[in-house]
Amino acid sequence: MEEICSRFTGCLLGGAVGDALGAPVEFMSLSQILNRYGENGIEWYDWAYGKRGGITDDTQMTLFTAEGLILHGLRYDKEPEAVAVYHSYQRWLVTQKVIDTGSLMKRFGNCSTDGVLMGYKNLHSQRAPGQSCLSALASGDMGTMENPINDSKGCGGVMRIAPAGLFLKKEKVFDTACQLAAITHGHRTGYLASGVQAQIIHEIISGRELSDAVEEAKRILLGYERHEETLDAVDRAIRAWEEGRPVTPETVESLGRGWIAEEALAIGLYCALAAGDDFAKCVRLAVNHGGDSDSTGSIAGNICGAMLGKDAIPKRFLEDLELADLIEETGQDLFERRDG
Ligand SMILES: [Mg+2]
Repeated sequence: MEEICSRFTGCLLGGAVGDALGAPVEFMSLSQILNRYGENGIEWYDWAYGKRGGITDDTQMTLFTAEGLILHGLRYDKEPEAVAVYHSYQRWLVTQKVIDTGSLMKRFGNCSTDGVLMGYKNLHSQRAPGQSCLSALASGDMGTMENPINDSKGCGGVMRIAPAGLFLKKEKVFDTACQLAAITHGHRTGYLASGVQAQIIHEIISGRELSDAVEEAKRILLGYERHEETLDAVDRAIRAWEEGRPVTPETVESLGRGWIAEEALAIGLYCALAAGDDFAKCVRLAVNHGGDSDSTGSIAGNICGAMLGKDAIPKRFLEDLELADLIEETGQDLFERRDG
């Protein structure tokens, strides 16, 4: 049991470490990164958002995904998980100063203002939030797979979805993860990639090897229409690893830049496969490229942290991580209250 709990906390902390490591280089090209940090690229936290080890919107929204899922079991009767998580994302929107708690209560009722995360001052900070997330959540409508809110396939769904893989029963993981991503990302690939990421994490914490976890996620993906783009990205990541290509930023960049969902998933997955049992190698590989480094760092860190558990994360990464205690407690809460 202790080992499984450590995979839950490892998953969330791992994602946050990758996020914080990638934050200073999110908007830099590979050559800019190498010029600034030397031939190995960035290896430890650097300044971003006024601190070293600061998390970004990826980890903020991951925490709010977790809170929505936990509150769903406690406060919501017949509504689907997506409604509870939608309310939770509205609370995140309050922390981004887009709406206030008064209008939140007026629109969605008392239930929507529950939750402890809004009480954390550090979360009330804008860390380059994604436009699709902001505009979809501010629109007044809740996006679903049936009624897409937009045509976005940015990586904003997949980078926040890990808690669904940890918390839900196996038979609910893939579809619910897609629904949670579809709240803000209406493109098929935008949410199917999230289903794959959540399923991979679920299979890992259930004891499967990563390559078996990916096969299971692919099997479920094949049951969804218009899955080709997502499947192709997953297959490219697996091929890059199986062919034994050199583990370099160039190989990472051959999978894309990670601004869009399927590329972010492919990069995260490749880095976790290529790094094996070396957590630091995984997140360093995942952030040193000319793309969306904090999101690919988050996705890779989620997978690798779930695989190896919290103790595999170098202490130095955890000591300097913003809100590390809250992130760890959230992982423990997901473990203790899990549905699966
Ligand atoms: Mg970010």
